[in-house]
Amino acid sequence: MDLKELKALIYEKGIVGAGGAGFPTHMKLSDNTEVVILNSCECEPLLKVDKNLVSKYAENILRALSLLVEAVGAKEGIVALKNTYKTAIKAVEVEIDSFPKLRIKKMEDVYPAGDEVVLVYETTGRIIPEGGLPKDVNAVVINTETMLNIYNAVFLTVPVTHTYVTVTGEVNTPATLKVPIGCSVGRLLELAGGVSTENYEIIMGGPMTGKLIEEQATVTKTTKAVIVLPKGHPVILKKKMNTAVNMKRAMSVCSQCQMCTDLCPRALIGHSIKPHKIMNALANKMTSDLQTYMSSLVCSECGLCEAYSCHQGLSPRKLIGELKGKLRENGIKNTFRNKPYSVNQMREMRKVPKDRLIARLSLTAYNVEGFLDERELDVQKVKISLRQHIGIEAVPVVKVGDKVMRGQLIADIEEGKLGARIHASIDGIVSSLADNSITIAARGDICG
Ligand code: SF4
Ligand code: SF4
Repeated sequence: MDLKELKALIYEKGIVGAGGAGFPTHMKLSDNTEVVILNSCECEPLLKVDKNLVSKYAENILRALSLLVEAVGAKEGIVALKNTYKTAIKAVEVEIDSFPKLRIKKMEDVYPAGDEVVLVYETTGRIIPEGGLPKDVNAVVINTETMLNIYNAVFLTVPVTHTYVTVTGEVNTPATLKVPIGCSVGRLLELAGGVSTENYEIIMGGPMTGKLIEEQATVTKTTKAVIVLPKGHPVILKKKMNTAVNMKRAMSVCSQCQMCTDLCPRALIGHSIKPHKIMNALANKMTSDLQTYMSSLVCSECGLCEAYSCHQGLSPRKLIGELKGKLRENGIKNTFRNKPYSVNQMREMRKVPKDRLIARLSLTAYNVEGFLDERELDVQKVKISLRQHIGIEAVPVVKVGDKVMRGQLIADIEEGKLGARIHASIDGIVSSLADNSITIAARGDICG
């Protein structure tokens, strides 16, 4: 299959980056790619999707990776796996000899190993310039579930209708479930045996970068985890702290110890960000140091500085995130795209082991394996968002009362625009087209 055909198929089946912000995958692929990297290094604590999928579907995933390598004309494909994923590594080792252009890279179990900038450096030795993308160093990174979706599109002609979600924390049966897109979080928690505590909060995503949500929130193509924690858990309290309090605390107790900079994964890779300097500039309202403010655009918002590095419990990530948002609102872009030539010499010694991070976050008790549950779940209603990807919102091609089948196209994007098509995730009747979503009721309950 040539690149044009492959891209058309990926677009047709609505595939987006399942492990990140949902960048449409067909727009990522180009013929000046030298290396395709399979990202099976899910770095967020407690998440088990990559590990489970590679263990079970190694052959399919490698077939899709190999096809991609050939289609883009790359020299090689790299399977990047944590060295702690013993079963997954074994599964890949059994298959990999059938694919001469593929090799395994066993990665240390550190945070954030799955960050694209870190991953590209660890697997190829290439440093992505500040504000750049893997394509700037002739690489492309594809997440594990995305690769499985490519396999499903090419070999089974199946579009994206489901996603894999680790449901864990205070639930009775922690597991990684295959869930129809649009399923409510409330239903998902019931399917994981129900919540096991009374006063709780829910995080969608990992504990480091995930967001607090309500049970009415729905699963999208990029949802990878739903975590339930007691209301007073330190991870929850940190997420609830507001900017004004963060700023006041920064003004009064930031000791300028530099630990946030010493351990910052982007600073260690050679990028110019220095979170301690940004904290100083913000706390002291220093307006002359533009370079320091601009460097916030390099922050990946991995959260290591606030969850691990800062001995004062400050939140550089949150304040830097707010600053980034303000710069973007005002149309300010990263114009100084420095390209570092070398990483910090101390980098190897300053990596943060994930186990230690989990302990620091008081999450050790919740770090359970769970199991991969791919049974057909009893989900009677889905509310499918029209914006589950980077780019423009998809436009419904169905109306209220239409009968739809699982896998049927229900929303499309204008040709050539950045976005992704959306397909029905269950059989049923379209009961509502409100809230930038399409609701489908399995039993024809058209009250929505
Ligand atoms: S680690 Fe904390 S106290 Fe130290 S410089 Fe950074 S924000 Fe300030
Ligand atoms: S969140 Fe903190 S540690 Fe992570 S990249 Fe940004 S400044 Fe660095």
